[in-house]
Amino acid sequence: MKNELFKQLEILSANNNEIGRRSFLKLLVSAGIISTIGVNDAFAYSSNAKGKIVIIGGGAAGLSMAARLTRWLDDPDITLIDPSDRQYYQPGFTLIACGEYEPDEVWKEQKDYIPDGVKWIKDTVVAVDPVAKSVTTTGNEKINYDFLVLTPGLQINWDKVEGISLDTLGQGNAHCIYDWNGAQKTWTAMQEFAKKGGRGVFTDTYTKLKCGGAPKKICLLTEHQSRKQNNRDNLQLDYFTASKALYDVPYFTPRLEEIYKERNIPVSLNCRLKGVDTQAKRAYFEKIETKGEEKIVTPFTEDYDFLHFTPPMSAPDFVRDSGLGWTEGKLAADSWVMVDKETLIHKTYPEIISLGDVAGIPTSKTSAAVRVQVPIAAKNLISLMEGKEPQEKYNGYAACPIVTDYGHVLLCEFDYDKNPCNSFPFSMLDTSKELWPAWLLKKYILKPMYFYGMLRGLM
Ligand SMILES: Cc1cc2nc3c(=O)[nH]c(=O)nc-3n(C[C@H](O)[C@H](O)[C@H](O)COP(=O)(O)OP(=O)(O)OC[C@H]3O[C@@H](n4cnc5c(N)ncnc54)[C@H](O)[C@@H]3O)c2cc1C
Repeated sequence: MKNELFKQLEILSANNNEIGRRSFLKLLVSAGIISTIGVNDAFAYSSNAKGKIVIIGGGAAGLSMAARLTRWLDDPDITLIDPSDRQYYQPGFTLIACGEYEPDEVWKEQKDYIPDGVKWIKDTVVAVDPVAKSVTTTGNEKINYDFLVLTPGLQINWDKVEGISLDTLGQGNAHCIYDWNGAQKTWTAMQEFAKKGGRGVFTDTYTKLKCGGAPKKICLLTEHQSRKQNNRDNLQLDYFTASKALYDVPYFTPRLEEIYKERNIPVSLNCRLKGVDTQAKRAYFEKIETKGEEKIVTPFTEDYDFLHFTPPMSAPDFVRDSGLGWTEGKLAADSWVMVDKETLIHKTYPEIISLGDVAGIPTSKTSAAVRVQVPIAAKNLISLMEGKEPQEKYNGYAACPIVTDYGHVLLCEFDYDKNPCNSFPFSMLDTSKELWPAWLLKKYILKPMYFYGMLRGLM
């Protein structure tokens, strides 16, 4: 019965044609996973507002915005700037890194997702002049806008971990799943490590990061992989977090901490990875503690056989250089875009709207958050174009399905106040615990939802 269900879901989610798309959406509606109201809402809105819209970045947020705005505006004038040939479903990187997805399952051609009528400039933005309302690209093209959608995602600062770079990823068995190639190398190395045994060291980072759950997931999956290989006793696993707690959403934290205890994975708090000696297989850390006003920094090293690390992340440099980031508060250091956390409109330049990973808002950077932000941002942008006050408000919804083993997921969904909020039909179940249906959602449903629904502006 279970196997038959898996097979059906697998066939539907692999089928990338129009019939496959429709069958998949019907299945989601009939299973109560998405509502017909939600899909109908994607069509039941229109405006004759005018203005030239430029979108910087065609990822989860930029493409979804392009699709919504194209449908909702009677006479859209949209230019999208993005250098990438490929559109990656990044949450799938974790499933590549544990052998559940093939690498080529997680990307599609970018050109197939640019809505009809949208002009695509295949280039990288290097500057925005928010006063002159223009954007400059590496090709030195200057593009003027009336309204700007700022969705370039975030920048991974590989150079901030000394001794390793994106190009040398994998050397000295130091791995990172925040890159498509890196995820593939992780899978090869993780299997070998689980078979052979030794010391596994796992880290997160001290900046805001996309999918804060990803470093924890790969740690737990490595542990389970070693049990699958009947070799758990020969592995010592340690998790080092830069935060003061393993997780900061109270509804889910107790169970996550319990899982780490049950699996015998000690968690060290307030530890920042500074560098890696890949020859010696040694990781350099700093433990940062505060006593009153005093900050105490204690350096230490950890030898490893397998390392999974997470580099610091920030807004792309051009955001900082163009003066679009926060200038004060916690979000200023990494220059996250200074938007109102409810309307997503820039606080200084009201013709700029920003969402997705680059947005300076106090929630988790996930594509689940993007899914909820898009209709709000699109409606608010249209209100601005119509000269009206934006009415839509974002409540900070984000979700992070923490894969706790092969077969279970702790489906963390929450808002700005860190209150749990269910958007999937699991309210009958105890969502503070890991669930098998949530694994089905993660493995079979979220990816086609992304490609068929979200990027098409349907959900
Ligand atoms: C390993 C991993 C696991 C994850 N797991 C989950 C998960 O389980 N659940 C979840 O919801 N989310 C997860 N995420 C996070 C999710 O993928 C991101 O939050 C989401 O993709 C953000 O969308 P975005 O549009 O802001 O950025 P992106 O999707 O990254 O898109 C940014 C786009 O901007 C373009 N761009 C960048 N710079 C420029 C420039 N200067 N000029 C023009 N274009 C530019 C890029 O080419 C890209 O196409 C995960 C991410 C990773 C890496």
